[in-house]
Amino acid sequence: MLKNDHLDEWDRENFFHPSTHLAEFARGNIPQRVVTGGKNCHIEDRDGNRFLDAFSGLYCVNVGYGRQEIADAIATQAHQLAYYHSYVGHGTEASITLAKMILDRAPDHMSKVYFGLSGSDANETNIKLVWYYNNVLDRPKKKKIISRWRGYHGSGLMTGSLTGLKLFHNKFDLPLSQVIHTEAPYYYRRDNLDQSEAEFVAHCVNALEELIDREGADTIAAFIGEPALGTGGLVPPPEGYWPAIQAVLDKNDILLIADEVVTGFGRLGTMFGSEHYGMKPDIITIAKGLTSAYAPLSGSIVSEKFWKVLEEGTDKIGPIGHGWTYSAHPIAAAAGVANLKLIDELKLVQNASEIGAYFKKALNEAIGEHINVGDVRGDGLLCAVEFVQDRDSRTYFEADKKVSYALNAALLNRGVISRAMPEGDILGFAPPFCLTQKEADEIAAKLQDSIAEVLG
Ligand code: PLP
Repeated sequence: MLKNDHLDEWDRENFFHPSTHLAEFARGNIPQRVVTGGKNCHIEDRDGNRFLDAFSGLYCVNVGYGRQEIADAIATQAHQLAYYHSYVGHGTEASITLAKMILDRAPDHMSKVYFGLSGSDANETNIKLVWYYNNVLDRPKKKKIISRWRGYHGSGLMTGSLTGLKLFHNKFDLPLSQVIHTEAPYYYRRDNLDQSEAEFVAHCVNALEELIDREGADTIAAFIGEPALGTGGLVPPPEGYWPAIQAVLDKNDILLIADEVVTGFGRLGTMFGSEHYGMKPDIITIAKGLTSAYAPLSGSIVSEKFWKVLEEGTDKIGPIGHGWTYSAHPIAAAAGVANLKLIDELKLVQNASEIGAYFKKALNEAIGEHINVGDVRGDGLLCAVEFVQDRDSRTYFEADKKVSYALNAALLNRGVISRAMPEGDILGFAPPFCLTQKEADEIAAKLQDSIAEVLG
C-alpha cells in the first residue's frame, strides 16, 4: 500500500477516536494503526503487520474476516435497493427474512424484533419500551431500572447510566436518576473468600431483595443484565445465579432484559446466553454477532406477553412514537441473513463450544500455575485471565503498574490481539468462531512468553 500520503497526520489532526486518551493521541504519544484487511482470524495493517485477532474486533466479527458470502450479499442488496425505510408497515425481503430467522433461533416465548443500529441504541429502545409498557398498564410509578455494577450496556445517556463502570459515568453527569445498581455476580472477587458458590448466589439475591424493598417494587420496572458479564471483566455467573434472580424478579413483577449483544448467536457455544444459563427474559438485546459486524445492526426481541401490551398501547393512543431512519436498513439486514446462514452452514456455534473448551484448557496448561495468574475463566469463546499480585489473598497490583496493559502490549508485539479490560488486571479473549486448535495453542504459548517478559 502507498505510504507517501498524509493519513497518519490527518488521523491525529481530524479524527475523534472513541475510548481513547484524546490529548495523548493528538500529541502523538500513543500509537495509531491503519487497518487495511482481514482474513478469518487475522487482520493486517498498512505497515505490513499481521495479527491474530483474539478479540474479534470488539467481540463482534464472530464468523471471521473476509467472508465472501456476506460481502456478496451486501453488494447485491446495495445494487438492488440500498435503502428504504421500515415505517408504517414498509419492509424489504432482507429485513422481513432476517426477523423470521432471528425468531426461529430465539427462545420460544419471544415474538417480534425491532431493529436498530448499535447495542447502545437497542438498549435505549428497550428502556423506552419498558416505560411505555408500564404506562399502558397504568403503572406510572413503575419506572426504575436495576443494573449491575460491572455491567456494560452501552455509552448513551440511559445506556451509559445502565453501564456499571465508573469510567463511563465520570464527568458525564451519569448515571441518570432512574437507574440503580446492584451487586455484580463476580464470585472470584467476593468479599468473603470462605463463601461457597451457593452462599454467594444467596448473597447476591439478598442484596437484590433489599434493594427492591428499599425502593419499593411498585417503582421498579426492569432488571437488565448480560448473561455473562462482558466488558466488566468477562465473568460467567456462578451456578444457579440466573434462576435465583429470575425468581425474585417474577415475584416482584419486574421485567428482565437479557443484554445478549456479546453472547447472542453463539459466543458461549449456544445460540443465546439466555438458554445457556436458564434466563427467561421479556426482552433480548442483540447486535454484534447478528451481522458479525459486517454492517451496523442491532435488535430488541420482545416476548409475546410484552408485545401484547405494546399492541394494546397503539389501540389506545395510535401508532408507536419510536423509530430510526435506519431501522432495519436493507444492506445491514442482507448482511445479517448471510451471516446467520453461514453460522449454520459452518456449524460455528458448535465450533465455538468445542474450540472454546480446547482454548480454555490450553490457557490453563500454559499459564494456570503462574504465581500471578489468579483466575482463568470463560464459557465458549468468551474467556479471561485475571492477574493478581498474590494468589492466596487475591491482592490487586498497584493500579499505576497497569499490568494488563503491559501484557496486552507484550502480546501484541508477538502478533496477538487481546483486550485489557477497563477495570482490574484482566486480559480478555473472544476470538472468531472459526479459531483453529493451532491458533488456540499459539495464543496460549505467546501469552506464556508475554507473562514471562512482563511478570517474570
Ligand atoms: N451491550 C453489551 C453487552 C455490549 O458489550 C455492548 C458493546 O460492547 C453494548 C451493549 C453497546 O453496543 P454498541 O457499542 O454497539 O453501542
